[in-house]
Order: sequence, then structure tokens, then C-alpha cells
Amino acid sequence: QTRPTDHSGERREGYVRVRGAREHNLKDVDVDIPRGALVVFTGVSGSGKSSLAFGTLYAEAQRRYLESVSPYARRLFHQMPVPEVDEVDGLPPAVALQQQRGSPTARSSVGSVSTLSNSLRMLYSRAGDYPPGQEILYAESFSPNTPEGACPQCSGLGRVYEVTEQSLVPDDTLTIRERAVAAWPPAWHGQNLRDILVTMGYDVDTPWRDLPKKDRDWILFTDETPTVPVYAGLTPKETKAALRRKDTPSYQGTFTGARRYVLQTFANTESASMKKRVARYMVSTECPLCRGKRLRREALAVTFAGIDIMELSRMPLARLADLLTPYAAGQAKVDKARAKEHPEQMIVTQRIAQDLCARLQVLLDLGLGYLALERSTPTLSPGELQRLRLATQVRSNLFGVVYVLDEPSAGLHPADTEALLDALAQLKSAGNSLFVVEHALDVIRRADWIVDVGPQAGERGGQVLYSGVPDGLRKVESSQTRHYLFNEKPLAPRTPREPADWLRLEGVRRNNLDGISAAFPLGVLTAVTGVSGSGKSSLVSQVLVELVGAALGQGAPEGEGAEPEEPGLEQEAALPLEGRIVAGMENVRRMVRVDQKPIGRTPRSNLATYTGLFDGVRKLFAATPDAKKRRFDAGRFSFNVAKGRCEHCAGEGFVMVELLFLPSVYAPCPTCEGARYNAKTLEVRYRGKNIAEVLGMTVGEALDFFEGEPLVERALQVLREVGLDYLRLGQPATELSGGEAQRIKLATELQRAGRGNTLYILDEPTTGLHPLDADRLMLQLNRLVDAGNTVIVVEHTMRVVAGCDWVIDVGPGAGDEGGRLICAGPPAEVAACRASRTAPYLAAHIA
Ligand code: ADP
Ligand code: ADP
Ligand code: ZN
Ligand code: ZN
Repeated sequence: QTRPTDHSGERREGYVRVRGAREHNLKDVDVDIPRGALVVFTGVSGSGKSSLAFGTLYAEAQRRYLESVSPYARRLFHQMPVPEVDEVDGLPPAVALQQQRGSPTARSSVGSVSTLSNSLRMLYSRAGDYPPGQEILYAESFSPNTPEGACPQCSGLGRVYEVTEQSLVPDDTLTIRERAVAAWPPAWHGQNLRDILVTMGYDVDTPWRDLPKKDRDWILFTDETPTVPVYAGLTPKETKAALRRKDTPSYQGTFTGARRYVLQTFANTESASMKKRVARYMVSTECPLCRGKRLRREALAVTFAGIDIMELSRMPLARLADLLTPYAAGQAKVDKARAKEHPEQMIVTQRIAQDLCARLQVLLDLGLGYLALERSTPTLSPGELQRLRLATQVRSNLFGVVYVLDEPSAGLHPADTEALLDALAQLKSAGNSLFVVEHALDVIRRADWIVDVGPQAGERGGQVLYSGVPDGLRKVESSQTRHYLFNEKPLAPRTPREPADWLRLEGVRRNNLDGISAAFPLGVLTAVTGVSGSGKSSLVSQVLVELVGAALGQGAPEGEGAEPEEPGLEQEAALPLEGRIVAGMENVRRMVRVDQKPIGRTPRSNLATYTGLFDGVRKLFAATPDAKKRRFDAGRFSFNVAKGRCEHCAGEGFVMVELLFLPSVYAPCPTCEGARYNAKTLEVRYRGKNIAEVLGMTVGEALDFFEGEPLVERALQVLREVGLDYLRLGQPATELSGGEAQRIKLATELQRAGRGNTLYILDEPTTGLHPLDADRLMLQLNRLVDAGNTVIVVEHTMRVVAGCDWVIDVGPGAGDEGGRLICAGPPAEVAACRASRTAPYLAAHIA
């Protein structure tokens, strides 16, 4: 190989040459990276790996590509961010396989993303068994997303949305006056409907359940909209008298049945909150016409191997591959007479089956055999989705491109990592380059070339410490990665904590969990392990969270501050909660999920607002003599309140530029130049700085600046302890990585320390974390446990699992082959369990 780094001006054949990269925190980076190789970008979280791999290399490739293909796109680029870099040479076209945390539409599925569904439709169209007399259908007729294919009753959704008496009247012991019809509009409009019923002679003071069925049905379900005189404020008796006397009414009111109101509002309102409100009163049921299969009857009548296309699409991919293999090999049992009559059909079947089998094999190799084609992509984990897209690429026959991947090992059990490396090797041997941001040591060890970024995060990172073949990293003193890569010492032996009590679950049913019991120890740190698809998330992030949430009366047990999802018909139907807690709840007072979801989706939320730190800062500003003289209160220093903020950008500091077909981008506000406040507010200074300048400080700088101010010092200290002293106080939520968001959430929790009896749940918390950061995370989790809390993590990194007090291994395999508790105990005990696929990997980390 050549010299590791070459900063001279000469151009090296076969290399991508980057000069002067300054995106985000990158410090004018020069680096040469070989093409046709597996290149892994390493470095602590926040060091600048993604800024180099995605923000610079991929962004530049994308920009050039779009510029070359479409004059229309070119016009958009003037608004698109151009990476901060002087020069990039030798860059092939790039394909990014990034982990997307945003949700793609519900209508995209494993089958559509992998394009396997297209082939399956072709198979049914050309080689399916048609009922006698039925015409051959085009392939599109087998897709629920086309007018030709969609079931006419549910428009291809498989579910119909309706209201029921139960959904409209959740509590039937109430009277109409007491708002039994909860679905009615709030405030005046609801009273109006009640008064109309009074005029019409309905009884509004008897409990709903005691009203005659005929009346209940009319009030809820009628489509009639009678207009009657309304006497506002009169009792039923007085109303009757007024009607008899033909008094002048307060006004004429028009009645609307509750169903009509809910369905019309849902369909027509433009207000998201109204839509959300009425959605609560709707229930979805399986479409009676297609029975949830989403297709027209004609399409469902066509079979292959005796079953319709939807049944085939609901099989796990592993079973689908088994079913198709004999057809691909030309060995399936077929009707001899038919084969003779339609030899072309046999050839078509074999061709399509061969293609399907080859593509399925890649998915099986990547450990995704438990998925079904019909599974919608929003229900996949980001790691599953990325591997799905990776598998699709492996079969795409592209060459000469660079694939840029973001932690492809995320969500993968060590037992599945080999297959991932094989898939990457296939892409490479087809003549492609691979740029991979990765933390898993098993993957880093297989790199042809390592680009190590650091030495630390944020301002203190952004340099390329090393670029070369792996072995050369050994000698790079400033690298954090080398410690883990070369002298990985097993963790110091430790004695696991003893459980204080047990939280016991029984009859747990969800996805592949079939009525199992599980016991989670309280007062300790527990890791739940198992291969991808074994059922860890179903058990922990779904059932456990929902059961404990219900027991605590916590509505949506999301990480605090998380934004609710938009409601809509495309949403998956909520799964029924099956299982119960039989012991231990008395020792759980609160539950918190600490996830990697963004702490907010707009620049309006940031580090300081999320942690509550900003309240203290604003109070300090309001207490200055200058602020008092001007009568500025703490609210004046909020960029979310009209008084003090810049009006042009409404305190965002940015203005949003909407782009057709592309994600919107933010540009700095031209009026305040990003300061977010109006000039008057900025005149007030605390210790010589204005509020915008304070938001521009890093956590570390703020700690010095606010010395002796208990209101803010504590929060800042905790942020430093979780390793975030490089972040700016006003760093918008949109600029934070998942790992950073997670640590901010943890810091917010650690600040509250001392409460105890809280159950913390983390699903793969080490995703996106360098081993050094993972060690830091463990330190924080242990602090939570020491303070009398319980922590449960779903985890794949064995170094982390080995440092827990208790391990619950789920498996043994994925999907139907998993869903059972294989063994549970302290790490050393599970490491010795024969039946566990985790055991051998865990054993390697037990001292
Ligand atoms: P890594 O991939 O090594 O974890 P990143 O490249 O994501 O690191 O981030 C490097 C630094 O750049 C971090 O300090 C991060 O907060 C900052 N950063 C990331 N995204 C943005 C952005 N969109 N705007 C400004 N700063 C950002
Ligand atoms: P793990 O967390 O161990 O990777 P999961 O609990 O996510 O496993 O999945 C266990 C099984 O349940 C898999 O077969 C998976 O395909 C299935 N599954 C998980 N979530 C859903 C869902 N929303 N809809 C249908 N099947 C699901
Ligand atoms: Zn239907
Ligand atoms: Zn502004």
C-alpha cells in the first residue's frame, strides 16, 4: 500500500482527493481516500465522521450528479446547501444508504423497497392459476396501490374507518348534559347540539345507557340535519313551555349526528389538532370486502402454488424462498397436462422464480428472513431498513459508484455481522467503493482503510488523525479508536448487583411472542439480547412499556419532550395489548424511555430549552438592573414569545426555504442575522454578554461564565459529565445527532437525581456511539441505578452487555424461530449457556 496520508499537491491514481473540507466542525481537512475499497470512518461521537462522509463527500457527489442530469434540479441548487470544501477530485457517483429516522410513507413496504413485489406481481399475472373464464390480469392489477388493483371498498388500505357507539360515547354512565357524547365538538358548538336535542324532546338528563336504543342510534348515527328553534339557557321544561307559547327563540340551530360530525371533520378539516381530536373517536376495522387483503376480488382469485398473492406476501421471506426454490430449479410438482399445453408459462415461472430466489437469498443472508413483503417500512427499525436497501443494491448490478453507509451494523447481533460483511464484499468486488461510518469493532477490523477523525467532539474534533491501512493506526497517539481496536482489554471484573425485587409479566403476546412470561429485576442494570428479529423490542419497547405505562396511567410513555406523531389514516392500527403485570409494580413510580429521537424537529427547541437550563438564564437576565429599569421580565428573553424576539423570523434565527421534492432547508434570518432577538432585547447585558451571545456559548464556556450561579450551574455540570461540553447552548435540535439527543435526555434525567424507583428503558442506546462514548454511557446508566432506579437496555454490543448486572437472552433465532426466553442471569452465567447464540460472543468479554 501507499503512504497513509499525502498532503502534497500530487494526485494519486485511484484515490478520492479532498482538500479544505470545513463542513460543520471540520478543520480545513485534507485527505486522500482509496476507491474500490472498504473504507471505514471512525472517531468519537460528534468528531465529524458524518460531516466528512455524508456532509462533504456524499453531498458533493449528489450535487454534481443532479447538476449533470437535470437543468430543473440545477435551479434548485442555488438554494441547496453546498458543502464547505475547496476541492474534491476523483469522486465517483454516490449512493447513500443512510439510516433514516424520519418515517417514509406507510404505503412503502418491504416488498416495494426491495422491488420484490413487482416480480411477484409479474409471476401472478403471467404464471398464476386463473379461475375458468377469467381474463388474464396485468401485473398492476395485483397492486393495492393502483386503481386497477385496489379493493373498491377500502381503496386498498385493508381497513375501514368507522365510529361505534362505544367510540363516540366512552362513558355511558354520563348524561348528555354531562357530555356523554364525548365526540361532540367542545365548547359552544357542543352545547348548541345539546340544546337542539332539548327542543326535539330528547332526554338529556338520563344516563346514556338508560336511553332507548332508538334515540341513542338517532343521536349518534343519523344523517338527517334538522333545523329547529333553540332556547339557550332554558331547562327542558321551560323549553317545552316556550315552544308551546311559540316564543321567539334565541336562534335557529342545525343538528348534526355524531358520526357525521366526526367523519366529516376528519376528512375536511385543515387543523391538525381538530383532526387529531376526532381521530380519537374513530375505530378501524378490517375491510369486510377484501378481509384486509387490500386487493380486488378478481386479483385475489388468482393463485400460485395454491395461494393468493397477499398470503404469499405475508409469509416470512425465509418461507417464501423455500416455496419458490423448487420452481426455480424446475422441480416443482405441476399439472403435467397444463405444462404441455402452456410450455411458455413454465419457462416464465422458472425465470421469475430464479430471479426472486437470488434476490431473497441476499435478504436472508443479511438476517432479514423473518420479515414479510407486506411489512410496512415505518415498522422497521432504521437498521433493518438500511440492510433492506443494502440488499437491494447488492443485486442492482451497479458498478463504479461509491456507497456511503451509516453504521450498517446497527441493530445487528454479532452473529449476523458476518453476512453484512459479505454483502459489503460483494458490492466491492463488483467494482464499487464503500465509505462506511461505523463503531462496531468487528466491522472496523475488516476495513481495507481507516479514516480516524478526532481527537474529540465538536470544536475539539474535526481533524483527520489518520488515513491509511488499519495497522498504521496503532501508532497514532491522539486516536481514541486505537485503544479499542488494538489493546482491547476485557473489562475489569465486577460483581453484579443483586436485584432488589422483580417486575413479573405473564401471558405476553405480541408479534412473535406467544404468551410468554418474563421477570425483569428491579434496582439493577439489565441487558436484553438476541439476534435481530428475535423479539427483544416486542418484549421491551412495546409490551413492557405499554403495560407499565398503563399501570402508571402514563398516556404516551415517550421520552419527555418528544413530539407526538401526526394522526392520519395511513397510521398502522394500534396492536392490542396482551399480557399482564403480576408483581413488582409497587416499586415502580415512574417510567422514562431514553431514545435517540430528536429532541425537537425545528430550530425552536435546543439544548438550553430542552434541559430547562434556559429558564435559569432568562431569570438572571431579567434580574439585571437594566432589565428591571426597562420592565423586561424573563419572558422578554424567550425567543418563543413575541415581546423580545425578532419579528421577521419569529425568533427562529432561521427562515425556512421550501423546496419541491426535496427536504426544506433553513437559511439564517436576514433581519437579526441569526441572533433571534430584536435590538432592544439585545441591549440588555448580563456579565457583559447579551442573551444571543450566551446562546452562542458552549457548555464548557458557559460553566466558566455562570460560575457561582446555582440556577444554571448544576444543569451545565451534568451536561459536561455526559460528555457534551462542546455543544453550544443554543444548538438547534435539528443539528444534533441521535447520540447527542440521547445524552441530552440522560443529562436531563440525571439532574433530577435522587428520586429513585424510576424505570428507564433504552432500545439500542449505543447506536452511533464510539466504544469510548459507550463506556461513558455505561457510567451514566450506573449512576442512575446507584440512585435507586432500574435500567433496562436492549443491546448488541457485548462489551456493554458484559458490564450489566443481569442479562435476558431472547431467541434462539428470528421471527417464528425466536420469541422465547433462552436464559437469564448475571453475564457470566448467560455466557456459559449452551442454547444461547449470544453466549459465545459474550464469553469473549467476560474477564
Ligand atoms: P459524528 O458523525 O462523528 O458523530 P458529526 O459529523 O455528526 O459527527 O458532527 C460533528 C459536529 O458537527 C458535532 O459537533 C455536531 O454537533 C455538529 N453538527 C452536526 N450536524 C450539524 C449541522 N447540521 N449544523 C451544524 N453543526 C452540525
Ligand atoms: P428484535 O427487537 O429482537 O430485533 P422485534 O421484536 O423487532 O425483534 O421483532 C420480533 C418479530 O416480530 C419479528 O419477526 C418481526 O418481524 C416481528 N415484528 C416486529 N414488529 C412488527 C410489526 N410492527 N408488525 C409486524 N411484525 C412485527
Ligand atoms: Zn377492502
Ligand atoms: Zn430574525
